[in-house]
Amino acid sequence: MPIYEYKCGKCNGVFEMLVSSTASRAPACPECGHKRTEKVFSVFASHGTSSRAGSAGSCGSCSSGACSTCRR
Ligand SMILES: [Zn+2]
Repeated sequence: MPIYEYKCGKCNGVFEMLVSSTASRAPACPECGHKRTEKVFSVFASHGTSSRAGSAGSCGSCSSGACSTCRR
């Protein structure tokens, strides 16, 4: 199962959660119990930057767009 990062809409805490691929609902915040959490797809996004590494298919360490860096 993949590990996703979630950000709490109340305390802004970021936590990681093992999530089944069939689960569509975000888990509650483990810190404050708030239920409005949003999935964070990129580690870069969690640091407040919206810049992307160019167009699809390259992250600098591969050319296929399928490495662990590209896919986060
Ligand atoms: Zn919280």
